[in-house]
Amino acid sequence: MKNKKLFNLYLLVIVLFLFAQSTAAEEPLQIEKVAGNVYCLYGPGGNMGILKTGSGLLLIDSKVNHSTEAVLKKIKSFSPAPITHMILTHYHWDHTDGAKTIAKGAVSICHENCKETLIRRAKKTNQDYIATIKTFDKIQKLQVGKEKITLLHLGPGHTSGDTIVIFETSGVIHSGDLFFHGMPPYIDVKEGSDTLNWIRIIETLSKKYPDYKIIPGHGKITGMKNYLYFADYLKYLRKEVSAGIKAGKDAGAIMKENKLDGFKKIKDKGFFTTRKNNILWMYQELTRKKK
Ligand SMILES: [Zn+2]
Repeated sequence: MKNKKLFNLYLLVIVLFLFAQSTAAEEPLQIEKVAGNVYCLYGPGGNMGILKTGSGLLLIDSKVNHSTEAVLKKIKSFSPAPITHMILTHYHWDHTDGAKTIAKGAVSICHENCKETLIRRAKKTNQDYIATIKTFDKIQKLQVGKEKITLLHLGPGHTSGDTIVIFETSGVIHSGDLFFHGMPPYIDVKEGSDTLNWIRIIETLSKKYPDYKIIPGHGKITGMKNYLYFADYLKYLRKEVSAGIKAGKDAGAIMKENKLDGFKKIKDKGFFTTRKNNILWMYQELTRKKK
């Protein structure tokens, strides 16, 4: 009897927690100019990039399913030009869910590992769209209107199939989730994350594009200085967790002893992207068995 009461109480806590999550104020859909012809669309899910040209719109990522209709409306009121291209930075649902509707009739492109993961994880309903996505390996050049665009894959980072979009004419980078600005990142250990290479990617981009504006996967648009700060946080996280592992500690013990409070500008967001989870994911990555 006592167990049943406890169980009911546990259920109530979960229901209240989920209710609180669902009613939490959602970030409004809002378009902000980044530079040249490139804009950022904030709102539920990852940040979308929009390239506006006379001949059409190129979009980066597509947010979550429940915001699809509102996203389309927002884009239509921003420009009546047709959506001609959709670039998916990686497979995560908060960047790709709306794509099958938003990118209807457009050319969709993602990295080949991203497509492989999408196919493996997709529900049957998405298969038709996913089958039409074009892929690239290391680099692909595009021109849309007057804008010269480079798609780059610099090896695994946040996932095994991350794409970085460089708008060469406007001087803007969309990093996808290779940048969480102002918050701890998600590290996708199960789908091939590599934080050491992730740091290298940021250093490479900072040397090649020091003055470019950056649309991060999450958080406000910014520049290279804050991207390098984020790389330093990743280095610090690796160092702290490695030291714990060397001292024979498990993830729980490292979390208990280390609050990772060395980087004041990186603040926990919600219950998921937190320093605590960063320690756990880093621990899992550093102790992951090689396939
Ligand atoms: Zn992601």
